[in-house]
Amino acid sequence: MSVSIRRIRCIATAPADIRLVVVKVETSEPELNGLGCATFTQRPLAVIEAVEKYLDPLLRGRAVSEIEDIWQTAYVSSYWRSGPVLNNALSGVDMALWDIKGRQAGMPVYDLLGGRTRMAAPVYLHASGRDFSEVTDRARALMEDGCRHVRLQVEVPGQATYGTESDLHTHQTVDGPLTPHNLFEPADYARLAPQLFEHARNELGDEVELLHDIHERVPAPLAMQLAKDLEPYRLFFLEDALPPEDISSFRNLRAASSIPLAMGELFTNVNDYLPLINEQLIDFIRVHLSDIGGLTPARKLAALCEYFGVRTAWHGPGDTSPIGHAANLALDVSVSNFGIQEFTTFNQATLDVFPGCPVLKDGMLWPSESPGWGIELNEGLAAKFPYPEHPYNGAWPAVRRRDGSVVKP
Ligand code: MG
Repeated sequence: MSVSIRRIRCIATAPADIRLVVVKVETSEPELNGLGCATFTQRPLAVIEAVEKYLDPLLRGRAVSEIEDIWQTAYVSSYWRSGPVLNNALSGVDMALWDIKGRQAGMPVYDLLGGRTRMAAPVYLHASGRDFSEVTDRARALMEDGCRHVRLQVEVPGQATYGTESDLHTHQTVDGPLTPHNLFEPADYARLAPQLFEHARNELGDEVELLHDIHERVPAPLAMQLAKDLEPYRLFFLEDALPPEDISSFRNLRAASSIPLAMGELFTNVNDYLPLINEQLIDFIRVHLSDIGGLTPARKLAALCEYFGVRTAWHGPGDTSPIGHAANLALDVSVSNFGIQEFTTFNQATLDVFPGCPVLKDGMLWPSESPGWGIELNEGLAAKFPYPEHPYNGAWPAVRRRDGSVVKP
């Protein structure tokens, strides 16, 4: 008698004040359950509805062993498919099924994927600040802890600058008049960023790997100028120089600069990233696993990238649950074309809610050797961390230029 899906449900929790959605697949074996990440922190309530009202009734009774067929079945079950809400719902189920398969086999998921090709995954952490020396002080502290890759972002004075504490998402919860927490001028930022990296190379030396995220904030001609201006500082990569709506401009960007390019955390459909890979217009694929539908599509994407010389740099921000980080890590340690892993340190509450989290040591993330993801979920404790109050349930208000027009995130 094969093990089957008994029920699929969501656990909503925010132990770091970030809205996480974790899917639990319960099976016909009372002690055998799996966990998956379905975190779409700007639309968590829509994902929960998609899982519990659509995927649960569709998939009850299905054999847990049939991961690929369940993925394909659920993917087309909405007829209109893809997109971040439905992909996150699908990811929650998909990752939970891989967790169950690992627990049945008595193996960590990376063993199901072919086994380790490296002991642990080198990570990059974020250093930002109000001025150049605050950024380099924070970078130096990370380096002293063993980190060899650091992403640097500096605040444009008086403006909501992505990746810094001025960013509106930590201050502004309501759309409204221009303030330093929602105003942003692309040209001011593009003049400042190269000066930060000149300062950082002088202060931090040549050995540390430096990264930077434009976060789609500038028009294409300015992105090309910025890429050229950053070339002397030998970045490990420059991320999201353009929004996904402008991917055709990557051909010009690639021709204009030798800087290594990373792209893709906003991709939700294979057709978004395919031309960038098969024309070798990027060096690193930045995909958020749950936003493309989980581990099943991500391992295919990693294999595709391998044949085009593109390396992996899975998205690993705070709005990824520990299960999502474990899925990133299972790929990181098992694929040959691994590049780097972004990581955000877990706070104590997260470690308590999710016993078995991967461990950061010596600048690398070390996976659990326990079966599946190796992570449990303390549901009683998770319930003690409800979503924080927010007028739009987590949705972002807009960043605007001085003339009031909206800037991409
Ligand atoms: Mg990014």
